Amino acid sequence: MKTTKVKAEVHTHSIASFHAYSTIGEMINMAEQKGLELLAVTDHGPSYPDSPHTWYFENLKAIPRKVNSIYFLRGAEANLISYDGTVDIPQEILAKLDWVIASIHVPFLEPGSIKDHTDTYINALKNPMIDALGHSGTPSFPYDIDSVLETAKKLDKVIELNNHSFIARKANIENCKKIARRCAELGVNVVLTTDAHSAFEIGETDECWKMAMEAGIREEQILNISAERFLSYICRRRGYDRSIFENTKSEG
Ligand SMILES: [Zn+2]
Ligand SMILES: [Zn+2]
Repeated sequence: MKTTKVKAEVHTHSIASFHAYSTIGEMINMAEQKGLELLAVTDHGPSYPDSPHTWYFENLKAIPRKVNSIYFLRGAEANLISYDGTVDIPQEILAKLDWVIASIHVPFLEPGSIKDHTDTYINALKNPMIDALGHSGTPSFPYDIDSVLETAKKLDKVIELNNHSFIARKANIENCKKIARRCAELGVNVVLTTDAHSAFEIGETDECWKMAMEAGIREEQILNISAERFLSYICRRRGYDRSIFENTKSEG
């Protein structure tokens, strides 16, 4: 089976979002089969009519932090629903998660001006419970790339480069390339993700990797290249002790 250089898979959807198709157990097994080291499940925030109730996010502690050789992280892909950076998952629930991506999904935020979209992303980055901006290349939501990336760098936050955009959001690609180039030039940390909606997509980051390399992104900037690098970022950001990720028991 093909292996990837990116060993921590940090943007995935389980069957808890009903337009995705695999259980977390199937996803962990697939991650292991593909030689990955870490899986973060980041189901959609509740604005989607088929996304899980907020209880689902609170109860992710039912899944051990380590299953066989795979580290499991409790995550979410929250929807940005206001230019003030508000997302659709309450702050106290975000605080119980390890890794939060904030994304704009077209139905849940009205397109506005470049300033509106820039404010949305900068305000999201200022939220201490949000770690990363997801697939920000959507053409209907252009933003001031330099201001957002400089804020991400200053606040130790992450920009996602999303392999799924090469399949499902081809109109985004030119913007993604531009964002990747500026991340390289400004030294902003990135994650390369699949946004898998079934276990079969897990670990498939080839297009994204190619784009990142062409953009001049250095391997040191890719936070999810290994479980250790990603966990050290999470521990730094959230003040965790690294040893918590060795727990093989449910905490639910
Ligand atoms: Zn998304
Ligand atoms: Zn997603």
